[in-house]
Amino acid sequence: MTRVYNFSAGPAMLPEPVLNQARDEMLDWRGSGMCVAEMSHRGKEFMAIAAEAEADLRELLIIPEHYKVLFLQGGASLQFAMVPLNMLGDKGRADYLNTGSWSKKAIAEAKRFGEVRIAASTEASRFTCAPAQDELSLDPDAAYVHYTPNETIEGVEFPYVPETGAVPLVADMSSTILSRPIDVTRFGLIYAGAQKNIGPAGLTIVIVREDLIGKAQPFTPTMLDYKIHAENGSMYNTPPTYAWYLAGLVFKWLKGIGGLSTIAEINARKAQKLYAAIDRSSFYHNPVEPSARSWMNVPFTLAKPELDETFLKEAKAVGLTTLQGHRSVGGMRASIYNAMPEAGVDALIAFMQDFERRYG
Ligand code: PMP
Repeated sequence: MTRVYNFSAGPAMLPEPVLNQARDEMLDWRGSGMCVAEMSHRGKEFMAIAAEAEADLRELLIIPEHYKVLFLQGGASLQFAMVPLNMLGDKGRADYLNTGSWSKKAIAEAKRFGEVRIAASTEASRFTCAPAQDELSLDPDAAYVHYTPNETIEGVEFPYVPETGAVPLVADMSSTILSRPIDVTRFGLIYAGAQKNIGPAGLTIVIVREDLIGKAQPFTPTMLDYKIHAENGSMYNTPPTYAWYLAGLVFKWLKGIGGLSTIAEINARKAQKLYAAIDRSSFYHNPVEPSARSWMNVPFTLAKPELDETFLKEAKAVGLTTLQGHRSVGGMRASIYNAMPEAGVDALIAFMQDFERRYG
């Protein structure tokens, strides 16, 4: 068996111990005689799996009791609609920070439901930086402020959490959740698609302060109302049971290696090495302002774009896969989420240096 280092932006690598455990438990989960995927979501085995996953996530992120954790479906993209549907309330307007491709999508969707103010935009500098706190023009009467702490496509990460006073802060943490410790109390709502740092695609996690639940627009479909999911322990309908179980194994793995402070050290080191290798070379280039460079997604271009295909082909041949940049920006992108071993980053750097020697 040969496993590759997969630099995909998502679905991304899962920790090998998690995959091994899932394999060992595949046919018979701990004497139940069943695969988790075959279990009733209301049976006592699955209820225990679900509760333990939530408890572990709460422990990792230090989620206070007055926040609900929801295990939903529909991806982060459905949250682009659920957030305004549930949170615009009587105010009817919200502030959005426009910092890249994913915040743009969130903005477009929110406009279907209410008034959207752009409180800051980095589009003029082609989304290569994060706006500073004093560049945010925030409306104190907004229902909420939405931002994307890590823009997966552009590789831009906020180096700080915006201060929004009494206005709830909503964060699309799809590509940064669990990469480092955060102070959950700074946020009204956090959401994330699972397929990067949590587990397989098909699961979406929402962490929401209780007082923000129960304010959905009257026309909100039942399945899109946070209140329904909160009241039913995310089991109003059949939840994505197997993805929930695998996420639970990922949380256990994270706890086992020392939690978020440990993974943050590893992530910082992985990112620093890769950016240092790019900056040292005149062959590779990353356009993002150093203070706003993502720990998770590292886009870079080659000085000779005509070599892009050769780069990808040769990388693949040595087990370094899915390095092509997003189709909207081109070039390369190395996504180095929690489950990417440091050895994978070392192998990529060695390959890049060798490639530059041969073609640079
Ligand atoms: N937001 C961000 C920051 C993302 O990276 C992604 C997926 N790459 C999405 C939203 C969309 O997520 P999903 O495919 O789960 O809807």
